Order: sequence, then C-alpha cells, then structure tokens
Amino acid sequence: MTAAHQKARGLKPNSPRPAKALCSECGLCNTYYIHYVKEACAFLNQQFENLEQQTHGRARDLENWDECYFGVHQQMLAARKTEPIPGAQWTGIVSSIAMAMLESGRVEGVVCVQNSESDRFSPKPVIARSREEILAARVNKPTLSPNLSVLEQVEQSGLKRLLVIGVGCQIQALRAVQDKLGLEKLYVLGTPCVDNVTRAGLQKFLETTSRSPETVIHYEFMQDFRVHFKHSDGSTETVPFFGLKTNQLKDVFAPSCMSCFDYVNGLADLVVGYMGAPFGWQWLVVRNDLGQEMLDLVRDQLETQPVTSAGDRHAAVQQSIPAYDQGITLPMWAAKLVGLVIERIGPKGLEYARFSIDSHFTRNYLYVRRNYPQKLAAHVPAFAKKIVDQYQLPAQ
Ligand code: FAD
Ligand code: SF4
Repeated sequence: MTAAHQKARGLKPNSPRPAKALCSECGLCNTYYIHYVKEACAFLNQQFENLEQQTHGRARDLENWDECYFGVHQQMLAARKTEPIPGAQWTGIVSSIAMAMLESGRVEGVVCVQNSESDRFSPKPVIARSREEILAARVNKPTLSPNLSVLEQVEQSGLKRLLVIGVGCQIQALRAVQDKLGLEKLYVLGTPCVDNVTRAGLQKFLETTSRSPETVIHYEFMQDFRVHFKHSDGSTETVPFFGLKTNQLKDVFAPSCMSCFDYVNGLADLVVGYMGAPFGWQWLVVRNDLGQEMLDLVRDQLETQPVTSAGDRHAAVQQSIPAYDQGITLPMWAAKLVGLVIERIGPKGLEYARFSIDSHFTRNYLYVRRNYPQKLAAHVPAFAKKIVDQYQLPAQ
C-alpha cells in the first residue's frame, strides 16, 4: 500500500522552503517526507520535550543544570583516538564509530556527507555502504548541508538498519519522521553545531578572517579562544575570537543558526564534539543505551579521561552580550592580549562549553526577539529560556 507521504513531491533545490528565511536546508523538503514538514521542521515546530521523551524515554530534567545545558545523558567523557585518522576534523571518532557499525553488521548503511568533486566545502550527502565511503565523508563541511535529502533512497532501497550522522536541526526533523522510514533499527550519531553558514557566507567568513582564504582546508573555533585554520601546505593560522571583524560578520551566519537552541544535539543517541574537553581531546555525551553501544564498539581504539570543569563564565558572557550586539571589533594587539588573559584565567572543560552555550543562546534569543517576536514564546525551549534568564539583556 502506498503511504500518504509517498504521494508528495520534494521541492527543487533553490525553490522557497516552508520555513522561508529560517530554513537550515536540512534536506527533508527535498524528499516526499515534506508531507510532514509542518510538524517535523525544527523551525516551524519546536517540540524538544516530545522528541526527548520519544528518543530517551524522558525529557531533560530542568532542575538539573547539567541536563539543562547538555541534555539527557548517561555519561560524559573526554576521549581521543590513540591512532587518529589523518584528515579527520579532530581524531576521527565519528568516522571510526561509523565504520565499526557497518563492519559489525549492526547497520547496512550510514547517512553522512562527503564533499562535491569541484569544491572541498560543498556538501554531498550520501548513504555510505563501505569503509571507503565513510572515510570520504570525514572532516566538517562547515556549511548548511541537506543530509536528509537521501531519506527517500533509504525507504526505496529497503534498508532496515541505518546509522545517521548529523547536526541538531537535521536530527530534530529525522526524529519526527523516523517511524515513517520503514526501518527496524535506527542509530543516531550527532555532533554539536553552531554558527553555520551558506557556501557564500563561508566565503565571506574566510575572506574576512584568514590570511589565505583559498588554501583553507579545515577550521575550528577552539577552546583556546582562537579560530585555528589549517592550510593545504600543512601550516596552521590562528586568529583570536576577540579580533574577529564582528561588524562585517554579523550577518554571515545563517538565520536558522541564529535562531537555533540545539547546540548540543539533544536528540542524538551519542554526541561527539570537542567543547567540553581539554584542548586536543574530543567530548563525548552518551545519551542512551544505543549511544553506549556505539561507544563500546570503538572503546579499544580510544584513550579516555573524565570531564572536568574550572573557572566561572558568567562575567565573560555578560560582557560579550553588548560587545556582540554592537559589533565591536578590537584592534589585533588588544584582541591577542584579551585572548591570552582569558585563556589563562578563563573557563575550562565543561565551563568552556557552558560559556559557549550561554554566549550563543543569549545572542540567538535577542535575534529571535527582534526578528521573529511572534515566534519567540513557542520557539525557545524551556531549557534555553532558563539559561538565558541568568543574564541581563538589552531592553530592545
Ligand atoms: P570526523 O571523523 O572527521 O567525521 C566528521 C563527520 O561529520 C562526518 O561523518 C560527516 O558526515 C559529518 N559532517 C560534516 N559536515 C557536516 C555538516 N555540515 N552537517 C552534518 N554533518 C556533517 N563541536 C563542538 O564541540 N562545538 C562546536 O561549536 C561545533 N561546531 C560544529 C559545527 C559544524 C557545522 C559541524 C559539522 C560540527 C561542529 N562540531 C562542534 C563538531 C566537531 O567539529 C567535530 O565534527 C566532531 O567533534 C567530530 O570530529 P571527528 O574527528 O570525530 O569527525
Ligand atoms: Fe524543510 Fe528542513 Fe528547511 Fe525546515 S529546515 S523548511 S524541514 S528543508
């Protein structure tokens, strides 16, 4: 029997999307699952509580600050591969788990994102069926990526056991339609995500920030309060956060990312990032038993240590609110000095992650309040409102 959604038709790339300017190009609307867009789209229907309940068996406990920040979890740890994968974003824990899931037969395919042949930063979502195809997807494509555009192929090819790798907005929409995909088992391996950009926005960011935009192959906003660029000749360039040309970069981030409150990918089974771990380590958040099962598969490839936390972020976050709002850019010598001081005495480990979450949630709350006042109450989840309420925001 034909399911209701199979009669729908996905939209062509570049045609307007239901979420309009707020669309994060998650890919759902490229498929016949657009049929469910009103309920499924992260920007049309905020439904964390329901989806956390569905995924983890309970919503996050708002009385518990750790859950408020990092979502439902069984454990957090810092880890790195003893033999890192060359060319991965960090040490390649995500790619290693994906390969182990496929090779152990737990899944038959992995939704991940490679890059197009012509451009190292243009995303090309695929259902990987081999080790080589997973490895070809390693490293971030730091642009909005329509990962869910391959969902139709999942149902049509009769895949029954699937791993999806993705960022928060993609996973929110996936969770809302997962029981329509005809799967017997779904695993979700997430990464945190923030400040993503369109391909054009990425170009502007690179040209405004790097000394050599055309040779950048990889970049990351690191825990030492600097952006680290890796260039194709193997050299590294660092630029202090406080020296970024915020006045020029204010509009570079996608409106979807300026209104997102799912930095830590609360609906994945396992999240692999870096921001709650010491410099050079990855940060793992195991949310449920499926997440633990994925981690256990690669445990013998990892060196681990407990997560730690030091410092107090509150004053730095409060000061960053007007600085960002007014687009203040420091001269480079002052930016380096502030960076050095804050690196020495500033927040570390989980406190750094809280610093980053607070700075982005306050900024995004102001963005939604100014640009989408009619959406504010329903769109901002209770955990994010509680985080934002710790700070004094400008009246307008
Ligand atoms: P690898 O083994 O190199 O694998 C990377 C995986 O990411 C691949 O499987 C690929 O399919 C997937 N991927 C690449 N680009 C995208 C994309 N655009 N959308 C969806 N999936 C993608 N971590 C933090 O702690 N704080 C952050 O602020 C943060 N921001 C991020 C922003 C973006 C846009 C992305 C994609 C990731 C971000 N991360 C962040 C996660 C972090 O940068 C690493 O991706 C993560 O730690 C995994 O590293 P790895 O070496 O294990 O990954
Ligand atoms: Fe569709 Fe995804 Fe855009 Fe929402 S974010 S309008 S679900 S493509």
